[in-house]
Amino acid sequence: MPFADRLNNVETSAIRELFKLLGKPGIISFAGGFPDSAMFDVSGIQEAVNAALASEAGGALQYGATEGYNPLREQLASFMGTKGVAGLKPEDLIVTTGSQQALDLLGKTMIDPGDKVIVEGPTFLATIQCFRLYGADLVSAPVDADGVDTDRLEQLIAEHKPKFVYLIPTFGNPSGAMLSLARRKKVLELAVKYQTLIVEDDPYGDLYFGDAPPPSILSLSADVPGSRDFIAHCGSLSKVLSPGLRVGWMIAPAELLAKATMCKQFSDAHTSTFAQATAAQYLKAGRMPATLANVRKVYGERARAMGDALRRELGDAISFTQPQGGLFFWARLTGANGTVADGAELAKRAIEKNVAFVPGAPFYAKDPDHATLRLSFATADVAKIEEGVKRLGQAI
Ligand code: PMP
Repeated sequence: MPFADRLNNVETSAIRELFKLLGKPGIISFAGGFPDSAMFDVSGIQEAVNAALASEAGGALQYGATEGYNPLREQLASFMGTKGVAGLKPEDLIVTTGSQQALDLLGKTMIDPGDKVIVEGPTFLATIQCFRLYGADLVSAPVDADGVDTDRLEQLIAEHKPKFVYLIPTFGNPSGAMLSLARRKKVLELAVKYQTLIVEDDPYGDLYFGDAPPPSILSLSADVPGSRDFIAHCGSLSKVLSPGLRVGWMIAPAELLAKATMCKQFSDAHTSTFAQATAAQYLKAGRMPATLANVRKVYGERARAMGDALRRELGDAISFTQPQGGLFFWARLTGANGTVADGAELAKRAIEKNVAFVPGAPFYAKDPDHATLRLSFATADVAKIEEGVKRLGQAI
């Protein structure tokens, strides 16, 4: 078939191939990037569906505005208010079909073939592929336990003059890293100094296990004059409420929102009004604080169990920072005492032992570190985590 040339820029991911093996009976999976289905607040969502149909069936079942269903935009504006983003109006955000669509809209509105875009190394795989589909030439900025190295980021911005910089500052996927407060401020200063758009992708910011993370870059922009014009912030209900709802949002300067809305119109006309009305009712019913408390507690227990098990079963064959939120451990194989030092090789051996995880190399746009791996602690309970890590210890 005479497919478009842009498809030559992307390949189907190695991870997708691995996922085909996950149906194997008895396998314990640390591979997925999704929340645990057993955690969904089914009765709360059922009530929200009923309320949406009882009180606003016309809106919930009808075509809607591309920008989003207004009652939901109002709820999301006040939800962001609880997270330190003061004074947000419903028209300051658009609703997207998951935050994934916001990333696609950013690609569509901003990227011409050959444009430079700076991403973290490592970063979210679907973002790499999405931006490449639009022809982006990705530049990778290194990440440590405090998030992206902002000194290096400044050099890369000065050198490459990117269309924008894409960051997952809070509990990154896959890095689990949290950008420090000082670095968040530095990012805002860089945005103003180089007049560069910063995309803050934040699907995990609410999923913290101990102290709350530093405020989002968006909320800190209030303290750095002129910076707000350079921030696009993507949010999502996927990780805390339900990914199946496909409800995300983007807060950005008005000019960018207008262009993104135009592109969205030709893509899906609008995010499901039924899902939006359900989400609006859910937020309106005031259920979110209890839901957040529950996911923080359960995922926090699982993260602690996985950290303890990794230290016990893998010892110095692996190094990692204990994540304070999100869904992932990002680890590096050390090769100590002849243990496996390649993430893909260990993934293969692990499947033979009936445990799965994702090797880290595909998460790099450039210069992959083959010793890395990503382990999700979200979908297995504590007993399965302990058993799975034991098997990992045998595989290594
Ligand atoms: N950004 C990041 C960093 C993610 O990890 C994910 C989900 N894996 C998304 C965006 C997309 O999430 P959704 O479209 O479900 O909101």
